[in-house]
Amino acid sequence: MIRTGNAYREGLRDGRQVWIEGERVRDVTTHPALKPIVDVKARMYDMAFEAAHRDTLTYVADNQRKSILNRPPTETKDWTDKLAAVDAVLKDIGGVVTRVGDETVGEMWSLQDGRDVLAEIDPRFADNIDRHIAAVRDDDLFHVSANTDPKGDRSLAPQDQDPDMLVHVTRETGAGIVIRGAKYETAAAYADQAFLKPTVGAWANNKLSDYAVGCIVKMGAPGVKHICRGGFAGRGRVEDYPLANRFDEVEALVVFDDVLIPWEDVFFYRHTRAAQFIRGTLHRYSAFPYVLRLMYTADMMIGAALWNAKQTGLDTLQAVREKLADLVCYREGINAHLTASIAMAERSPAGLLMPQQSMLFAGRVFACSQLPAMMHIARELCGGQICVTPGAASFEGAESGAWLRKFYTLNQNWQADDRRKLLAFARDLLNSDYAGHRLAFAQFAQAPHFNHLAAVYNSFDFSGPLDFVRRAADLSPRVTGGA
Ligand SMILES: Cc1cc2nc3c(=O)[nH]c(=O)nc-3n(C[C@H](O)[C@H](O)[C@H](O)COP(=O)(O)OP(=O)(O)OC[C@H]3O[C@@H](n4cnc5c(N)ncnc54)[C@H](O)[C@@H]3O)c2cc1C
Repeated sequence: MIRTGNAYREGLRDGRQVWIEGERVRDVTTHPALKPIVDVKARMYDMAFEAAHRDTLTYVADNQRKSILNRPPTETKDWTDKLAAVDAVLKDIGGVVTRVGDETVGEMWSLQDGRDVLAEIDPRFADNIDRHIAAVRDDDLFHVSANTDPKGDRSLAPQDQDPDMLVHVTRETGAGIVIRGAKYETAAAYADQAFLKPTVGAWANNKLSDYAVGCIVKMGAPGVKHICRGGFAGRGRVEDYPLANRFDEVEALVVFDDVLIPWEDVFFYRHTRAAQFIRGTLHRYSAFPYVLRLMYTADMMIGAALWNAKQTGLDTLQAVREKLADLVCYREGINAHLTASIAMAERSPAGLLMPQQSMLFAGRVFACSQLPAMMHIARELCGGQICVTPGAASFEGAESGAWLRKFYTLNQNWQADDRRKLLAFARDLLNSDYAGHRLAFAQFAQAPHFNHLAAVYNSFDFSGPLDFVRRAADLSPRVTGGA
């Protein structure tokens, strides 16, 4: 059954332990740094009940409405439905949010593809993943992703330093396993639960087996402590920072202080092969919604830059049009990778339809690695005024306002108020603390760049180029495409 926004908010009032800037947060739904993004997620839930959006965001199965975003994909339409649902949400909220559930739920579908690996340890663990995927689908839960530990000194084995630097199992009880450690997690403080698994690393080593654990952690469970970074919302007026005040997706260092994970929430533990499997396949579905968000970021950059050129009459210059075309090539490059990955989709071991992997992962490298250069083009097109323009209060001031209205009114079409609004939007998109944070988010939040490249290397079928060159260079027929 789909949930309402208020049911989601009520679920967050579970006594969870959250701190921000050293202050204990009693209710994440009302704290100024967290309320805006909780409201966005609540709005997503409420949209699903509205006649205008119901059929775009939900489908009916077993006589119940369920979220299209949580539906495991089995056919092409499931992916095009997800595209339409994300489009409806982002247009409704008027901005880009990434870690709102659909981008993380796919991590569990990857683990379902490794059912056989889980069953090697204990068949109950394979059943647990099936049950959890069904629970997200049927109960409309908000899942986040717990991958990255603090890790400490990487030149030392975890056993040779504070062992909590990587999440590990400390003991088994009749009720479940007990874990200790910490993970960095976007959105954890206002999510229902996280899929916790080992971080990027060499999981072949048996010495690491205490650390090879995968499970579901309830975000309000005893011993789970969310230490959030400072929020961007509320640092300046919404008129001056329209994106930071509405769409900041707050990260936390989530500490697991001897947290009991019930057996029904355990997917694997003390099993490095399972850790290896999940690290190798984690983003086979979830890279799609992640990269999709960058297409909308590109649209925001194109829109901001072109409106600015129109306001100032610079849109007729060929050199300006070429820079806009560079932004369009970026946007369409992302679009092409995503479209092709669905057109060429592949059947997964568990029978799901996964985007064609090398196309998807090459698209992720393209979208993330080119973003800094594209932001710079958009910043250049918007000009220096985005960082020197006074704030809304100065436009409202009796004396300063008169001067600002004079210099920011461009012609009959473009009055000072619209000029100020566009410049504030562009600043928050390209130049503000929030803009810099979003750039780091794109580079790291799913995995670091070297891991994005490893995914491309591991998914591309090299036999085509090898065979092509074997023939073209007239290599011996004994030479094959294999290693
Ligand atoms: C905004 C933001 C949101 C995030 N959200 C989440 C989240 O929701 N869930 C989550 O689990 N994590 C999240 N993270 C954490 C993110 O996954 C990590 O930052 C990332 O995995 C890199 O780990 P690290 O920061 O510890 O960097 P390190 O491991 O210290 O690496 C730093 C750099 O060293 C180099 N390097 C390190 N190891 C290698 C290697 N083996 N090969 C080549 N180069 C290497 C790379 O240049 C790398 O970028 C988030 C991070 C950010 C910035």
